[in-house]
Amino acid sequence: MNRRFFIGALGAATTSLCMGGGQPGKPRYVFLMIGDGMGVAQREVAERYARMKYPARKGGLAMNQLPVKALTTTSEIEGKVTDSAAAGTALACGAKTVNGALGVGADLTTPLRSVAFDAKDAGMKVGIVTSVPIDHATPAAFYAQVPKRSMYYEIGEFLVKSEFDYFAGETMLGRKKAKDKVPQDTLVKDAGYTHVRDRAGFDRLKKGAVKVLVEHDLGYAIEGKPSISLADYTRKGIELMMGDAGFFMMVEGGKIDWSGHANDLATNIHETLAFDEAVAVVLEFCKKHPAESVLVVTADHETGGLELAGNAPKKMVAALDRQEYQSAHYDTQVKQWKKGGAVAPEVAFDRLVDAFGFAPLENDARTRLKDAVAASLADDATDERSLEIQKMYGKKNAAVVSCLHELADRAGAKWTSFGHTDTRVSTTAVGRWADRFAGENDNTDIGKHLRELITKG
Ligand SMILES: [Zn+2]
Repeated sequence: MNRRFFIGALGAATTSLCMGGGQPGKPRYVFLMIGDGMGVAQREVAERYARMKYPARKGGLAMNQLPVKALTTTSEIEGKVTDSAAAGTALACGAKTVNGALGVGADLTTPLRSVAFDAKDAGMKVGIVTSVPIDHATPAAFYAQVPKRSMYYEIGEFLVKSEFDYFAGETMLGRKKAKDKVPQDTLVKDAGYTHVRDRAGFDRLKKGAVKVLVEHDLGYAIEGKPSISLADYTRKGIELMMGDAGFFMMVEGGKIDWSGHANDLATNIHETLAFDEAVAVVLEFCKKHPAESVLVVTADHETGGLELAGNAPKKMVAALDRQEYQSAHYDTQVKQWKKGGAVAPEVAFDRLVDAFGFAPLENDARTRLKDAVAASLADDATDERSLEIQKMYGKKNAAVVSCLHELADRAGAKWTSFGHTDTRVSTTAVGRWADRFAGENDNTDIGKHLRELITKG
């Protein structure tokens, strides 16, 4: 028997023994963890990278080791490719809606009920955690009811009215829209929330703290360890809400989606790994409380149409590790080079080849990248060729996307879209009640199962 498989099989057997199974009652600790835009290929490519890069860890990703496995469909109510609002609503409320809508039905008015409120009514504590703004679509699906996901200020009002116990994420987008309205800080304070915005305040939060809102930017994992990580947010949530009442906690890795839209593979992998660190924290907790906890890890949809053609893992890691920043950093650079013709196309080309470690670059790839750099640095609509190239890359920076595609190719992967796709996502679970998430299901089933667990067991 292959050693790796043996370890995996043993792990699963041990886990299901520990979890008991078949006993009556409701779970005390319920975790739903959502990798935004994290399709099957995203989980797989991060797994391969982790196994090669961190051989000491042996098992790859924590989320891929959970014994119960499923494939989950994600389309919105009319069968279209979903956005994060409709998919978040499906997971949170167990019901389909149209894209853009949060916590309301397809008529944009009928309120839908999130399982987080069921948990609150059942006397449990509730935590909502994310690596993106806390009023962004996925987290908001668990506490807001608005026809449009961009209604950030109103989403903030729902947040403070929710009475949920722990919110942690990046700075609220609603702050930008609060000009002629009651400032968000006032809303938060008046609702009695302890509002924390830095590491020192975060460290001062201790068990028993009630109604906490942490707003602090995490940045991108590829650019180095943030002052507070998603795993830290998750660990703190457990610490604050631990107790007889139990809790429901939703944790989202939100920038897996953003880097998928950018077709930025290295950043995508690092974001998946940062999310998986949070999964590992929860898994460790579940192993300590096997008879009382359930953990479900899923995604709201796939982003980027990522395909894995495969490459030698060593080559893959070497290619990916050349990239030091997330894509927007390079976008900004190229924009600066363009200003007033500050940097000639040949120089820009050499700098990008150097930054991504592309030398030597074979002929086709060289031509592709040279054309893309020329198009990115040209004044708008100068010649037909650059127009054509710009069209190819949509609104993206042609030079940067061309580099990111070359890097993905060297890593054995290929992006086929800048948007969301309709492919099924992987769902894994562990815990006494995890079996009901097994097999093939729809994202609404996850919400329905969670509701049943929380209300009836
Ligand atoms: Zn997206």
